[in-house]
Amino acid sequence: MSDRYSRQIMIPEFGEDGQQKLEDASVLVIGAGGLGTTLLYHLAAAGIGTIGIADNDIVNISNLNRQYIHFEKDLGSLKVVSAAEKLRKFNSNIQIFPLATAISKDNAIDIISQYDIVALAVDSVQARMIVNEACVQLGKPFVDGGINGFIGTSVFIEPGKTPCLACLYGTELPPIEKFSSLSPVVGTIASIEATSVIQYLLGLPVPLAGKLLYYNALLAEFEQLPLEFKEGCPICGGKKK
Ligand SMILES: [Zn+2]
Repeated sequence: MSDRYSRQIMIPEFGEDGQQKLEDASVLVIGAGGLGTTLLYHLAAAGIGTIGIADNDIVNISNLNRQYIHFEKDLGSLKVVSAAEKLRKFNSNIQIFPLATAISKDNAIDIISQYDIVALAVDSVQARMIVNEACVQLGKPFVDGGINGFIGTSVFIEPGKTPCLACLYGTELPPIEKFSSLSPVVGTIASIEATSVIQYLLGLPVPLAGKLLYYNALLAEFEQLPLEFKEGCPICGGKKK
């Protein structure tokens, strides 16, 4: 095993076996924006063997207050192309698969079924719900993160074991809106998402499975709220399998 990962292999819960598990794993990151930036760097740094990135957006100047995977030279380029270029230079031992597409009802099952786990890094509730439904159908675990100014949230969903996102948010979706975002708050939530992914892949208990983590950066406070199954949830059935 290369020295590259020696500092994390030292962690008792990790070891050489843990590193091998990450190398054998595949993670799909949906969104190469603010949350995606930190998530992708953490997953690539940790040595996840295969990372897919799905996003059809292009780099805009207003992204650069938080999306530090993109540089000024990337303005106008596809975010997945820009992100893949940085990650390949950062860690040449892993495989990066950029997908210049938005996740839709038509492609979600095909794309998600190729990966072990999904990390959501989007601001659209609609995209979350499409991924939620596909992951429940496939029995695929996923982590979600959300940001609004100084407030951040994260949940880890394990279909069949935990409530789903529709249990939490319902299926009446609000219109798409732009949320305010500040780089360190976005990075904190993305770091929490990356931690949950790594815990899952190592086979460790994921403390946020079935829980909503609520982070209030103005107060520097974290709170955990258990998710409840919603009776008759049309996506997961509202109960454990
Ligand atoms: Zn549900």
